[in-house]
Amino acid sequence: MSGKQIAIIGGGPAGLMAAEVLSLSGHAVTVYDGMPTFGRKFLLAGKSGLNITHSEDYQRFATRFGAASDRLRTALDDFTPADVRAWASGLGTETFTGTSGRVFPTVMKASPLLRAWLGRLEAQGVRLMTRHRWTGFANDGLTFETPNGPKTVHSDATLLALGGASWPRLGADGSWVPLLKDKDIGITDLQPANCGFDVDWSEVFKDRFAGAPLKSVTTTSGEGTFPGEFVISRHGIEGSLVYAHSAALRDRLVREGWATLLVDLAPGRSLERLEKDLGRQDRKISLSNRLRKGAGLEGVKAALVRELGAQAILNDPVQLAGLIKALPIPVSRPRPIAEAISSAGGIRFDALDERYMLKALPGVFTAGEMLDWEAPTGGYLLTACFATGRAAAAGINEWLLNPA
Ligand SMILES: Cc1cc2nc3c(=O)[nH]c(=O)nc-3n(C[C@H](O)[C@H](O)[C@H](O)COP(=O)(O)OP(=O)(O)OC[C@H]3O[C@@H](n4cnc5c(N)ncnc54)[C@H](O)[C@@H]3O)c2cc1C
Repeated sequence: MSGKQIAIIGGGPAGLMAAEVLSLSGHAVTVYDGMPTFGRKFLLAGKSGLNITHSEDYQRFATRFGAASDRLRTALDDFTPADVRAWASGLGTETFTGTSGRVFPTVMKASPLLRAWLGRLEAQGVRLMTRHRWTGFANDGLTFETPNGPKTVHSDATLLALGGASWPRLGADGSWVPLLKDKDIGITDLQPANCGFDVDWSEVFKDRFAGAPLKSVTTTSGEGTFPGEFVISRHGIEGSLVYAHSAALRDRLVREGWATLLVDLAPGRSLERLEKDLGRQDRKISLSNRLRKGAGLEGVKAALVRELGAQAILNDPVQLAGLIKALPIPVSRPRPIAEAISSAGGIRFDALDERYMLKALPGVFTAGEMLDWEAPTGGYLLTACFATGRAAAAGINEWLLNPA
């Protein structure tokens, strides 16, 4: 044993991965979490199928982290998607690649993996402390609220792995932001990522179509064009095909004050064919019939055209065809961060050194979603949390040897 005490605050994927590396390095590791159990968001992620990583070409994979891709590259190179799969397999969780290239445990859930992981950590000597809510720094130590009152802990090195602010009832609520801002640490405001958007639907439309899926469409924003499906909600639009555009839509709303998601409601038909087929329809028949016969659109798809199209456009077959191929849905704001899958923003990389240590707080390291990066859904989020947890652990090891 090294005799060094390491405090890890936050028992999600990033903190637990760091605990694994640091305990194997011979340090006395304690993981503190404010909640009564560890890894609650990880478990929730497994509810709808734990997408643990992605099988696409690694060169492409490594670019999925936007502006932070270069900064994350070393950590990802050291813990690639193949390493994630091998690691899960080592804990008895085999994985498979879905048709989309996403990788899942064969059991789909996170619970067997988390159970085996916590068991292995305890066997390695890691102390797991629940109901310890970190409240800041005082008297050269870390302060916690616990069921037995306030507590101060001293450590040789500390890792903060406190997550972002989505789904706050699972433990990560962004309450660390003011604690670190007080220490002059550069933090970009936490914002919703992989989230739905508000749309100002008419009462009639939302009463009738909230919950209706738009299947087999393509959507376009500054992010690109993607096929798939999304859902109309009472507030606006939701679902994986919306989440894929959320960074572009959110940033455009901030930059320009407006943003639209373009939807191709009939991706299987060319514009020319639609113009011809709609042009053949008798103008005297109802719009519903013209859309059904001339464009194959019914139900929520036809209703969306009626909801968003100006009368003059709906009456003109050429303009109507154009609208069906590129229907602009005007979004007014992202849904609140509490509903988002993940958070953008967080501790800026220029506040860290290469070892993931806060420049302003020597001996304090950070990892996971609390850092300023974002990625689409698809297993990228968990992979980067694992990878930065390991990178910060390596950084702690390096700093303990050479605290310069
Ligand atoms: C519904 C949903 C589905 C998802 N599905 C997927 C998926 O399939 N694939 C994927 O890659 N990603 C998915 N994600 C995202 C992924 O779960 C997160 O990116 C990941 O869990 C972040 O890991 P983390 O360790 O950084 O933070 P977290 O997992 O949030 O862990 C942070 C921990 O810190 C603790 N904590 C926070 N503040 C304090 C404090 N003050 N004191 C003590 N403890 C504190 C929290 O209790 C928590 O346990 C999903 C997220 C959601 C919400």
